[in-house]
Amino acid sequence: MQIILNQLKELSYNLYWSWNNDFYSIFDEINHDYWKWSNRNPVKFLDAISDEYLFDIIERKNLQEKIHSLYRDFKTYLNEETYFEKNYYKPTSPSVCYFSTEYGIAKCLKFYSGGLGTLSGDHLKSSSDLGIPLIGIGLAYTYGYFRQFIDKNDRQSELYEKNNFDKLPMYLVTDDNFRPLKISINLPGRKVFAQIWVINVGRVRLYLLDTFVDENNADDKRITDILYGGDIEERILQEIFLGIGGMRVLEALKFDIKAFHINEGHSAFLCFERIQNCMKKNNLSFKEAKERCYYSNIFTTHTPVPAGIDIFPRGLMDKYFRRYAEEEMNISFEELFDEGNLTKGQPDNDKFNMAYLAINNSNFVNAVSKSHGEIARKMWALPETRSQIDSITNGVHIKTYLSRASEKLYKKHFGKDWFKEENIWEKVSKLPDEAIWDIRKQNRLNMIKFIREKISDKMKLIHESDEKLSEVKDILDEKVLTIGFARRFATYKRGTLLFRDIERLKKIILNENMSVQFVFSGKAHPQDDGGKHLISEILSYSKQNEFKNKLVFLENYDIAVAKELVYGCDVWLNSPRRPLEASGTSGMKIVANGGLNFSILDGWWNEGYSEENGWKIDSSPDEKRISYEEEDIYEANSLYDTLENEILPSFYIRDDNGIPLKWIHKIKTSIRNLAEYFNTERMVKEYNEKFYMKVK
Ligand SMILES: *Cc1c(COP(=O)(O)O)cnc(C)c1O
Repeated sequence: MQIILNQLKELSYNLYWSWNNDFYSIFDEINHDYWKWSNRNPVKFLDAISDEYLFDIIERKNLQEKIHSLYRDFKTYLNEETYFEKNYYKPTSPSVCYFSTEYGIAKCLKFYSGGLGTLSGDHLKSSSDLGIPLIGIGLAYTYGYFRQFIDKNDRQSELYEKNNFDKLPMYLVTDDNFRPLKISINLPGRKVFAQIWVINVGRVRLYLLDTFVDENNADDKRITDILYGGDIEERILQEIFLGIGGMRVLEALKFDIKAFHINEGHSAFLCFERIQNCMKKNNLSFKEAKERCYYSNIFTTHTPVPAGIDIFPRGLMDKYFRRYAEEEMNISFEELFDEGNLTKGQPDNDKFNMAYLAINNSNFVNAVSKSHGEIARKMWALPETRSQIDSITNGVHIKTYLSRASEKLYKKHFGKDWFKEENIWEKVSKLPDEAIWDIRKQNRLNMIKFIREKISDKMKLIHESDEKLSEVKDILDEKVLTIGFARRFATYKRGTLLFRDIERLKKIILNENMSVQFVFSGKAHPQDDGGKHLISEILSYSKQNEFKNKLVFLENYDIAVAKELVYGCDVWLNSPRRPLEASGTSGMKIVANGGLNFSILDGWWNEGYSEENGWKIDSSPDEKRISYEEEDIYEANSLYDTLENEILPSFYIRDDNGIPLKWIHKIKTSIRNLAEYFNTERMVKEYNEKFYMKVK
């Protein structure tokens, strides 16, 4: 038994488990309530539960073999020959470093807010799968991102819960004397320290900086407290630690990194630190060192509008970078400031633009979808003498977002190692119609159970009446077409476009023969009143009679909620205002689960959409672009038309066995056309081949 416990503990400390359904189900089987209470955190779970109880349950439920086999799979995974090894060489140390301000790996690691974070997490997971010698750098936020709580007036409130790093799947990096390894940065009048945590993600390691250490004063301890929190000064301090501090971590760990990947502008200060190091090591001038570092920096931009970019005022830059420029780099502050000064020579030239800093210092620059590439090339208009902005379309780590039911079916038909088969998505799309319809039914039902449980947990928490509790079982209907919309509630994503013509929507909903129901979820940034207002609006609709049990807004959207919704929804709706959705990824997560996309042709869907594999919401042609209000009306009308005339009929027209043949056909085409391409395995291979391996 002790062996089993040790195996479970070892497994817990590698986020390999975050894409392993068997791992989740073992903990769920041991104790469902404990598992929920722990935030699906196996370290906290194992720490809380007594060994006797654990052994007893494992024996009674016969879980030994499951745990052993999971452990064996894990060891095999770590040792098997990878894509990288086959195509390049057997790496002995990391040579690529990926910098990102957020990472979404699993629910319990609250170091993410939305799509940028899940993308970074998926980048690490696929790098591990492929054996890319990559490590990640980020920040260990004391509080991370907030927990959303909907109050009795239907408003979002934010709860910040302190992370207990000692009870999370992460370790403190120590030096040769087993003391925490620390890096430091000189700030005005003081030296600020950070310790370093490490998270194992399969073969890949993620290092996170944490300024909550004894050496620092109270304010400095709080530099890394909240993701996207605080004022502009806290932001610049966080970014100094991410970029410059991150480089010092690499130095302290003696890594010999060849390629530096700047994922969005937050970490771009690393460019300065690299130049500074290079100047000192090789006795070069600023210009010479800049030129040398340029060829090994890679910048991925995610922002299609100038307003979305991180910008610091001159005064703050002066405060934190004058000494650095003059003493560390031997240049004037002006020269340093110019690296990020997009409006040089114009009257309003007091802003430092982080994306511009990254672009100025990166040979490789890419956007995250084809259409975003076109926009980025126009927006930045780089001189012809340098390499142009490329695009590498985002993806998702499919296994992380594949339901247990879907996976079980694939295993049944293609064996335990189905995922390693050639042309697997082509094969999946050839499964019998009944088999596909079967996973749709199971996935939908499981999601509805999850939703009911979550709503009833909340009701119990706020002591709702028994009568209210007894009505939870009527929420949503497992036979009804279910449409999902879940993502950050940023206003450009237009979370309420569906409700634009409320009377028309009610008419659609009230058609008994072809009913439809909706699940919404998402957080608004604490300072985004517009986004918060949209959430309240949806909550108020959900209380109207026509929407009773047919429209739910699920509280606290996070990776765990995202997973359940992408498993279960039949249709995934996305209605951003063009061209603001650089890529979007949540729609990719539903594909392998048999869900279908219904979206504005922006970001990835502009590439992925065809008539055979999903639906589009029509936009007014670019040359006729009208006011926002008219655009909303136009696009909402297209949404209703498509829903009424195409989506609902093809879901409800059934053959003699009750199977919607047209619908299933669409699912098959969607899996065949989309799953093969819109995943992070393809994406990371592209980064590797186009960029990482091109660095000399
Ligand atoms: C995938 C995901 C996102 C990204 O959603 P988009 O529709 O691409 O904005 C955001 N949050 C979570 C928790 C996710 O899993």
